[in-house]
Amino acid sequence: MTDLRDLYQEVILDHSKNPRHSGTLNPAQFSADGHNPLCGDKLHLTLNMEGDRVSDLRFDGSGCAISTASASMMCQALKGATLDEIQSKFSAFHQMVTGEAEFDVGSPPLGKLAIFAGVAKFPVRVKCATLAWHTLRAALDRGEQPISTEGDDDMSAPAQLNTTELESSVVDVLKTCYDPEIPVDIYELGLIYTVKARADGHVDIQMTLTSPACPVAGTLPGEVEAKVRALKNVSSAQVELVWDPPWDKEMMSEAAQVKLGFF
Ligand code: ZN
Repeated sequence: MTDLRDLYQEVILDHSKNPRHSGTLNPAQFSADGHNPLCGDKLHLTLNMEGDRVSDLRFDGSGCAISTASASMMCQALKGATLDEIQSKFSAFHQMVTGEAEFDVGSPPLGKLAIFAGVAKFPVRVKCATLAWHTLRAALDRGEQPISTEGDDDMSAPAQLNTTELESSVVDVLKTCYDPEIPVDIYELGLIYTVKARADGHVDIQMTLTSPACPVAGTLPGEVEAKVRALKNVSSAQVELVWDPPWDKEMMSEAAQVKLGFF
C-alpha cells in the first residue's frame, strides 16, 4: 500500500510539474473550455482527428496538481486512440474515480491512468480528476460553450439554485476555518470529505479531524456548521463528523504539504 501511495504522489507531482501535451493546437478541429468551480481548475482543450484517430491533442490552463496531472496523463493515453477507445477509457476512468468499480494499477483498459483510483476516497477531488475528460467529451460533441463539471452531481431535483456555485461558496468559507494548532485551513488540510448542496439551499458536509482525540473535536464541527449556515442562499446546513477513511497527511493538498514542510 505504501508503494502505491508513493507511486501515486510521484506520478501526480511529475505530471503536474512537467505536464505533457501542454499548449494549444492551431488550427484545431475540436476545442472546448472546462471549469471546475469547486476547486478553481480551468482548462482549454484542443484536438485534431485523422479519420477515426486522435492525431494530436493539447491542453492549457491553470489548476491544482490533480487536475493538471489528470489532463497530462489523459492526453498521453489518448493520442492515437480511436473514438471507441476514448469512450471505453472515459467510462472506465469515470467508474474508477467515482468508486463504482475498482481497478489495479496497469489493468486494462486504463493502464497508468489507474493511478487515479485513490481519488475515489476524496469526493471533493473527483471533479479535479474528471475535468479534462468532461472537457474532451464536450470538444468532441463540438461544444462551443464553456462547460462545467456540474453534470457529475447526483442531483435529481431540477435546480432552483445553482448548486455548484453554492458548493463553491461553501468551500470558500471552509477555507477560513482552522484547527487552532495547525496553520493550514481545514479544506486544504483534507479534513473535508464531501460538500453537497441541494437546490433548496440545504448543505451537507462530511468532515473528519486529524485524530479522534483531537482537542477541537467538540467545537470545530459546530463552528463550521454555523459559518456555512450564515452564507447567503444556504437555508440549512448539517455537518457530519466521520472517521472512515481516517485522516492521513497524504490527504492534504500539495499547497498544504509544502506549507507544513512535507515536500
Ligand atoms: Zn482541482
